[in-house]
Amino acid sequence: MKCLRVRRLNSSILFIGIIAIAVFVAFVLTGCQKKKLAAPGATVSGTYFDTLITITAYDNTPQDVLDGAIDRCAAYEKIFSKTDESSELYAINHRMGGNVEGNTYSIEVSDDMYEVLSCAVKYAKDTELAFNPALGSVISLWDYHSEHPTVPSQTAIDEALKVTDPFVIEISEDGSHTISMPMDGTQLDLGGIAKGYIADELKKYLVKNGCSEAVIMLGGNVYCMGNKNNQGYSVGIQKPFESIGTYVHVLSVKDDSVVTSGIYERYFEENGHIYHHIIDGTTGYPVDNDLASVTVVCSNSMKADILSTALLCMGSEKALEYARRESLVKVILITRDGEFIETNPER
Ligand code: ADP
Ligand code: MG
Repeated sequence: MKCLRVRRLNSSILFIGIIAIAVFVAFVLTGCQKKKLAAPGATVSGTYFDTLITITAYDNTPQDVLDGAIDRCAAYEKIFSKTDESSELYAINHRMGGNVEGNTYSIEVSDDMYEVLSCAVKYAKDTELAFNPALGSVISLWDYHSEHPTVPSQTAIDEALKVTDPFVIEISEDGSHTISMPMDGTQLDLGGIAKGYIADELKKYLVKNGCSEAVIMLGGNVYCMGNKNNQGYSVGIQKPFESIGTYVHVLSVKDDSVVTSGIYERYFEENGHIYHHIIDGTTGYPVDNDLASVTVVCSNSMKADILSTALLCMGSEKALEYARRESLVKVILITRDGEFIETNPER
């Protein structure tokens, strides 16, 4: 009897073992099917932040990794979009959620928001407000998206300018990721920094998932990862106000980010005057100096994004002075007269 029970037990163990192996084999097979590799040069794309975003991988990256990268852009839009009513930035700008005590609103923000805001305020100080993440109230007056954009009234600009001090934003340093700001009309606009941050984060995500040869493009923000399997990357510098793809210069880039800000990217004309999308925080009007575009090459795309906007606001003289102080790989200035100025031309 005893012997019989052992034999029955053995056959049950065998049966369970066979099922377990079958389940394992099925799991491995479906897993392998999911890991479909994209052909080198495969591109995924999507439109976020009103910008066409494309990611092209030059190594055999699994397709689901590339798809995951584009999905992340949708998630970042839910954080940094100023217009999406369900975004984190929208909640901050409308003082939703969080706590209000007296005239102070405070809210615990996401890690992404915390990192971007901390960096934005740091560079607002460092660039003496050439880069100002609190210009939201003024920028909203310049509606480049409307069918018939118009120059805002001086009264509206003067009112909006009263609430553009980025240093009213208090950022906790106790690890709680809490930010505080007044219950007034101060509005954040992260359009000059978010795409750089996202490029850096997408790069980290791709590297973590085994992809090291790729190009991430978010409009004027380009991240060249690796060296295109030793073929090298070429990035063209757009000639201002000419048709897209007309270049004044072509850069050879390896493992770096190239970010351009230009007055020709978004603008409207009224009475022969060009009103573009980069705002001088002292006047509330589009920046009016000798520069038409600034390109910054730097391994940190968020820094390149901030500085391409900031240097454009500074004008060529101050911009070159600033570029000399910073450890930037290269800065290219194109003036409104068509002059081409390049730092570190040997690189
Ligand atoms: P793009 O968004 O076209 O790539 P930029 O990186 O130069 O160009 O950012 C311009 C955007 O940054 C504007 O659309 C606006 O949202 C915001 N912005 C405009 N002027 C400033 C400024 N002086 N400081 C910080 N952000 C700005
Ligand atoms: Mg920028």
